[in-house]
Amino acid sequence: MPDRFDLAVIGAGPGGYVAAIRAAQLGMKVACIDKRPALGGTCLNVGCIPSKALLDSTELYAVAKSRLAQHGIQVGDVTFDLKTMMVRKDRVVKGLTDGVAFLFKKNRVQFVQGTARLAGSGKVAVKSTQGAGEILEAKSIILATGSEPSALPALPFDGTAVVSSTEALAFDKVPTHLIVVGGGYIGLELGSVWCRLGAKVTVVEFLPRILAQGDGEIATQLHKALTKQGLKLHVDTKVTSASVQGGQVIVNAQAKGESVLFQGDKVLVAVGRRPLIAGLGLEESRMAVDEHSGRILVNDRFETSLPGVYAIGDLIAGPMLAHKAQEEGVALVEQLAGKSNHVNYATIPSVIYTWPEVASVGQTEEQVKESGRAYRVGKFPFQANGRARSLDEAEGFVKLIADAKNDRLLGAHILGPRASELIAEAVLAMEFGGSAEDIARTCHAHPTLSEAVHEAALAVDKRAIHA
Ligand SMILES: Cc1cc2nc3c(=O)[nH]c(=O)nc-3n(C[C@H](O)[C@H](O)[C@H](O)COP(=O)(O)OP(=O)(O)OC[C@H]3O[C@@H](n4cnc5c(N)ncnc54)[C@H](O)[C@@H]3O)c2cc1C
Repeated sequence: MPDRFDLAVIGAGPGGYVAAIRAAQLGMKVACIDKRPALGGTCLNVGCIPSKALLDSTELYAVAKSRLAQHGIQVGDVTFDLKTMMVRKDRVVKGLTDGVAFLFKKNRVQFVQGTARLAGSGKVAVKSTQGAGEILEAKSIILATGSEPSALPALPFDGTAVVSSTEALAFDKVPTHLIVVGGGYIGLELGSVWCRLGAKVTVVEFLPRILAQGDGEIATQLHKALTKQGLKLHVDTKVTSASVQGGQVIVNAQAKGESVLFQGDKVLVAVGRRPLIAGLGLEESRMAVDEHSGRILVNDRFETSLPGVYAIGDLIAGPMLAHKAQEEGVALVEQLAGKSNHVNYATIPSVIYTWPEVASVGQTEEQVKESGRAYRVGKFPFQANGRARSLDEAEGFVKLIADAKNDRLLGAHILGPRASELIAEAVLAMEFGGSAEDIARTCHAHPTLSEAVHEAALAVDKRAIHA
């Protein structure tokens, strides 16, 4: 007899594992299947967490090397041991993936390791690594198999010289020259890691600017900041062909009609990710998939075209972000349990963990302008913020965009120290339908970085005090 569940979740990434835990909390009998032995999906294993662990280690190294002296701290020659850095990163990852396994046990979520596919109405076929197969039966099935790195036809991955983010998180030595194709957040974060450790890093971006989707003013300032740190950024540059010869990769590109050539020992292709749907049995079951993006089509209740089968996370439309996947997982299982919940896609923040960090929520100034809505902008530089000055991290600014008529906050964009944490205030304000005035009238502790958000809110009404 096949095992019977209320819910089977395929994929134990942030979308899947969070959905599984919440469903168990709501009293469902839940199985969660993943082909990886370690839980947590891309995010915990080869994404958010290992990249942040390396960004934090290399930031400490860069601070020790170049900034401690001005605090009067002498540390002599600062060196690093890459192996230790990688072991620490792996330890951070293991601690968190083990943590999810503990949460599964605590909540009685049954983890099944193996590769899963849809096998008819209410059925999931699971094949273990040893080749054994089993069928699980479930009233509801959630597809949460995430995404994988997109390849460039001109630069196919070979796992050694031409790599994806997965390999770039685990190089065993610092590349001499790392060429990063793609000026999005993954390319810029990993480019920063290896640049701080001494690699020459060249970023090649097809579009006219890095962070093409973000606020233009923020992208321009980040471009300057990263250039100052030593990254070479080539925008408006299209990779046309490449070859690997004797451990060197030659990348040919076109920039404004001119041919350019880059030569390096490693190329990181970070041109985006595509939904991981191969082998899920979607074609056999005739599930509707967006032809262009390959993403599974769902309605606002995450229902696919197959009754009883739902999809969330990187597999469906929207930003490919861990917290977006988690929100969808929770909203979906709460709906299944008869509760009302939905995801407010207008208030999903995004963060880039460069130095300075970038964090955004809501519309960019370009988007607001294009919508034709009258708006006001309030900006405040970290140069004028006491805490940022005492931290010696005064690069960047806070930019708030508010509706000119009713002052409602439309977007917030921060370039600066701990932007990743500061953005939460703007997200909350927007979630509550708040205005710039609401933030302006909220008392912020002194001296804190959050005062820059307060001052930017005052600046919307041209009454910032410290600028
Ligand atoms: C380098 C890097 C850095 C990132 N940094 C951030 C960040 O800072 N913040 C952020 O929000 N996001 C970040 N992301 C994106 C984030 O990791 C993804 O958006 C998130 O993991 C998506 O969650 P998911 O649950 O949809 O899928 P995933 O996390 O991709 O999980 C899907 C799981 O499904 C499993 N699976 C796939 N097919 C099958 C099958 N047939 N049978 C069984 N199991 C299967 C996979 O093994 C995987 O474990 C980063 C990504 C990368 C690559």
